[in-house]
Amino acid sequence: MTYALVLNSGSSSIKFQLLDPNNSATDEPFASGLVEQIGEPLGRVILKYGGEKHLLEEPIPNHSVGLNRAFELMSEHGCGPAQVEITAVGHRVVHGGILFSAPEIITDEIVDMIKDLIPLAPLHNPANVDGIEVARKILPDVPHVAVFDTGFFHTLPPAAAIYAINKEVAGENGVRRYGFHGTSHEYISQRVPELLGKPTDEVNQITLHLGNGASCAAVRGGQAIDTSMGMTPLSGLVMGTRTGDIDPGIVFHLYRTANMSIDEIDTLMNKQSGIKGISGVNDFRALAEMIEDGDPDAWLAYQIYIHQLRRYIGSYMISLGRVDAITFTAGVGENAANVRADAMAELEMYGIKIDPERNALPNSGPREISTDDSTIKVFVVPTNEELAIARYATELAP
Ligand code: ADP
Repeated sequence: MTYALVLNSGSSSIKFQLLDPNNSATDEPFASGLVEQIGEPLGRVILKYGGEKHLLEEPIPNHSVGLNRAFELMSEHGCGPAQVEITAVGHRVVHGGILFSAPEIITDEIVDMIKDLIPLAPLHNPANVDGIEVARKILPDVPHVAVFDTGFFHTLPPAAAIYAINKEVAGENGVRRYGFHGTSHEYISQRVPELLGKPTDEVNQITLHLGNGASCAAVRGGQAIDTSMGMTPLSGLVMGTRTGDIDPGIVFHLYRTANMSIDEIDTLMNKQSGIKGISGVNDFRALAEMIEDGDPDAWLAYQIYIHQLRRYIGSYMISLGRVDAITFTAGVGENAANVRADAMAELEMYGIKIDPERNALPNSGPREISTDDSTIKVFVVPTNEELAIARYATELAP
């Protein structure tokens, strides 16, 4: 058996999966794990393999040590690089700017190009580069492939991609809409035509990736024409801890009047806002319990979330003109039946009718939740970004 290794390197963590690219989205990976608290006094490596969880705790000063420890733990339990044939390594790279529209085999030149994009994603791309450099050293004979979170949105038309901000300033600073979660939106938008039994180029659809981070996309004939995340992943829908769209004037107000620094405002808007900022929790399971207990803030947070989601769905219906399908995915989209029901409520006059029984079924594979006579079909399709990255990496590997 041969496997692809998928790496998702963050600033203080590395997530890894060893998986068969022929898996379905809901199959468990062969092995998976996490290196966390890199650079902190005590770090951790967690490996899930063969139905068991293995843990290593020690200081992990950097990504190089972290990935080496992960490989050692894998080897110790029988799934290391010498015991398992790894045919390709796929790296999730957050920002591909306007340089990358598709996955690329990693060469020194590609690494330099990803480094050139660091100003656009100062928190994410350096960690992605670290992961790539370390993994290339440990597995020098295996092809490495970069898969960009922004790639799918390369097709956005100028009216959707360009902000109405001074042209010179925008041009000099790379200010435009890039979009994120592209691997997931692309994966979902390719599954939906199969469910409809139609060729991809004939399907107009809205994809809703509702996880801790959340975004939606309008896709015409397989090509993205609009998306809610922008130059950064902060805009658009209300998220677990991020604001989504707000008046940009709020930033000036907090800076000038509340004497907050730019870094404090950044942290506030990315980590202390969204559902958590209103209710105190960012997990929809905890939010549902609080609503059940009558917590007014939890109820308000939920209402704001649904309000914003419906605004985007409505605007993408108009942008697309004709819509064949609306699809929910990711942690909230796949599991929270109430979010799906409330997002789609009272839209019968637009051809959208949810079947409450279908919608209430627990999360399983791809499924329709609309009624048979709903003109616009509504689906739940589990996403699996790691699997999509594993497939790209395997396809591109020579
Ligand atoms: P990310 O990849 O952005 O971290 P996920 O797509 O894994 O996020 O989604 C995580 C979120 O999904 C959780 O924070 C939680 O809000 C929600 N979630 C997960 N499982 C359930 C569930 N059974 N019911 C409701 N919400 C859920």
